[in-house]
Amino acid sequence: MSADRTVLVLNCGSSSLKYAVVEPDSGRQIADGVVERIGDAGGPPDHEAALRAAFDQIADYGDLVAVGHRVVHGGPDLYQPTVVDDALIARVRELSALAPLHNPPALLGIEVARKVLPDLPHVAVFDTAFFHDLPAAAAHYAIDRDVAERWHVRRYGFHGTSHQYVSEQAAEFLEAPLESLNQIVLHLGNGASASAIAGGRPLDTSMGLTPMEGLVMGTRSGDVDPGVLVYLWREAGMSVDEIETMLNKRSGVRGLGGETDFRELHARVDAGDADAKLAYDVYLHRLRKYVGAYLALLGRTDVITFTAGVGENDAIVRRDALSGLLTLGIELDDDRNDGPERGPRRISSDSSPITVLVIPTDEELAIARACASVIG
Ligand code: ADP
Repeated sequence: MSADRTVLVLNCGSSSLKYAVVEPDSGRQIADGVVERIGDAGGPPDHEAALRAAFDQIADYGDLVAVGHRVVHGGPDLYQPTVVDDALIARVRELSALAPLHNPPALLGIEVARKVLPDLPHVAVFDTAFFHDLPAAAAHYAIDRDVAERWHVRRYGFHGTSHQYVSEQAAEFLEAPLESLNQIVLHLGNGASASAIAGGRPLDTSMGLTPMEGLVMGTRSGDVDPGVLVYLWREAGMSVDEIETMLNKRSGVRGLGGETDFRELHARVDAGDADAKLAYDVYLHRLRKYVGAYLALLGRTDVITFTAGVGENDAIVRRDALSGLLTLGIELDDDRNDGPERGPRRISSDSSPITVLVIPTDEELAIARACASVIG
């Protein structure tokens, strides 16, 4: 039996390192896991130790041919999967100002992995890539053009690997050409984003310069009036760092309801908890607003797909997001929506003009395939 080639996929955060060993050709995942609490008491002291701990956990690498690194922000110029060299590292480092919470840990991961696995090609895959070609109308903020250009302020979009993968899988599931479908993808995890995709090309997405814009998330605010930031800075005496931390870590569902896990949130809503109910209501209000906006942008929508932790598992969120929209062409089938299935599946009724799907995302496989395509 000839061993299939494999790719080690690394997703390095500030305090955690997720890894997977994937066969890009068959799609089989032969190992995966996470090393957490890097730099904490009880966890590995640094990223190099974390990577070595991950290696200790991986029993089988198969025929390892490359290492794929998830890099959150590719800025204006980096969007193709790119073999890592010193110039690329320097470029990603420059972009750290655009993604201070995300790019520095990814860089650490790249540097450590190159040191530990010097003989393999390392490939950076950017979370912004799929949205590089957003139409100008969706990519621009309506702010002073000179300032925007000088500082590369535009809407980049994130979770691109997932939106692209899921939209392709939806076409495959429906046995329809990708080019023929207008799609809305709702990636609802801890981070959450929506996209409108026309014939395989992104038309809009909810995240912007940073992964803070758009939907209400586990701990991130999503859309706020920019005046809120100015007001808090000027009047409340909050520093820029305090405002950033609040918007990223103490906002969203947690900020309103004290909770990020939707199973707990539902339980508390059912028990009559007013904070949990407000958090859920604000979350859903924003989600429905984006669905409506994207229906209008697309003109004709063929398919709406839920993915990621909440989207794949939470039938209540899916029902509440799309209930009462028959006049817009959306009718869920409650039995299908509530069913125990876990794979790609249809949850709309057979007569619903718009098909609604659940498709599990697989960013590791998509990254592994992107790597394989670069190294040939
Ligand atoms: P990320 O990759 O952004 O960290 P995930 O896509 O793994 O996040 O999603 C994590 C979220 O999924 C959790 O916050 C949790 O609320 C939600 N989740 C996971 N399983 C379930 C479930 N069975 N029911 C409802 N929500 C779930």
